[in-house]
Amino acid sequence: MENEELVVGGSIGIARYPHNGKTAEDLIKNADIAMYRAKADGKNTHKVFTPKMLKSVTHRANIERELRRSLADLQQFELWFQPLVCLKTGRIMGAESLVRWRHPVLGVVPPADFIPIAEETAMILPLGQWLIERLCFQIQQWMPYFAHDFHVSINISSKQLYRQNLVEMFAFYMEKYHVPPRTIRMEITESLLLQDEDEAERTLKEIRASGIEVWLDDFGTGYSSLSYLRRFTVDGIKIDQSFVRDIITDSKDQQLVQAMVAMANNLDLLVVAEGIETEDQANTLAQIGCEIGQGYYFDKPMPVDDFVKKLINESESNVIEFKL
Ligand code: C2E
Ligand code: CA
Ligand code: CA
Repeated sequence: MENEELVVGGSIGIARYPHNGKTAEDLIKNADIAMYRAKADGKNTHKVFTPKMLKSVTHRANIERELRRSLADLQQFELWFQPLVCLKTGRIMGAESLVRWRHPVLGVVPPADFIPIAEETAMILPLGQWLIERLCFQIQQWMPYFAHDFHVSINISSKQLYRQNLVEMFAFYMEKYHVPPRTIRMEITESLLLQDEDEAERTLKEIRASGIEVWLDDFGTGYSSLSYLRRFTVDGIKIDQSFVRDIITDSKDQQLVQAMVAMANNLDLLVVAEGIETEDQANTLAQIGCEIGQGYYFDKPMPVDDFVKKLINESESNVIEFKL
């Protein structure tokens, strides 16, 4: 076409009469659903409709509809907190905030079930803003009782980085709630940086200049973890749970974690190991030189009241300087 060579591909969805529909309308609708699945599976392929596909499409549509409704009542979204623990002393160093959706009918919905949809539909923008405000509100409540190096991290989606002025937004809520930036850590994943590296670099620089720490989440799982470390300045990395899971049984995983910790030390980066589920894992990580850990072995993410109770208990056993 006008001397340009075009390569045309195709994704095919197949629905069969009478199993997948008795009317032309139903058949086309179901073939369409199968075609979208073919596209989602990397395009240039075909998929045959199954009732399971319809179920997942319906489920997704339900969640999307409920999400849209819930935006009028953002109180349904709350932050839960999971402690970050010093692997040497057992002291709680901080927490990661993780969103939960307390739906009036569905109950507590985990983020995996709605964050991807919120991201696709841009509903993550109002939701993310609400969570940033809640984070600052919460830190304000806790501030008087914090140890000086206590911090709370928040997960940020790519849409938030590219479509909102995050720097201004954080500044606004930090001022509103009198929260010092050093108490906040922003967790981002590599996939987030892929879209527009220049813009990401600019924003992250500004965020760090404002005093908020930036951490690379799920470290080691992406395609280009190292080149990101070269390009973007971050304060720390979180070693992905997939490496921690088999650290006792798989010597290769153990060596990889060891290498990541050594590399981080050389680059003056802090390290958190995620997904610690057993004492053995915690001990091994401590031996390797990883200082901070997070995982079910210490605590699951919990609602704010439980987290405060936990901190009070710890302070009573003199592990941390926290009193209410
Ligand atoms: P993530 O940021 O990698 O968060 C860690 C996830 O691992 C959390 O799942 C946490 O509950 C879980 N986890 C912690 N310790 C263990 C363990 O020992 N074993 C196992 N198997 N899992 C453990 P959760 O809370 O379901 O969150 C899932 C993902 O949803 C998060 O992964 C993050 O990507 C996203 N997410 C959560 N909260 C937010 C948020 O406020 N904003 C955005 N944009 N994304 C969020
Ligand atoms: Ca995270
Ligand atoms: Ca992670």
